Amino acid sequence: MGSRNTSTRSSTAAPRAWTPEALSAAPFRKYQCGNCGFIYDEAVGLPEEGLPPGTRWEEIPESWNCPDCGMSKSQFELYVED
Ligand SMILES: [Zn+2]
Repeated sequence: MGSRNTSTRSSTAAPRAWTPEALSAAPFRKYQCGNCGFIYDEAVGLPEEGLPPGTRWEEIPESWNCPDCGMSKSQFELYVED
């Protein structure tokens, strides 16, 4: 005799692991100004321009200009390193 009192708690809440999505989604790229050769590095950003490290090129407003020569963002091209 005897009553078993087993209460099984099934928690579906999985532990939330910190996933750096912004870092793992895609590798950081660089863009070079087609006029003066200035290189914008997404990993570095331009803190003095209000762009914190990790700011994606797509996140930079179209009104942004090259800090060196003032060329518009559209004049930049993807910079590929060998
Ligand atoms: Zn430039």
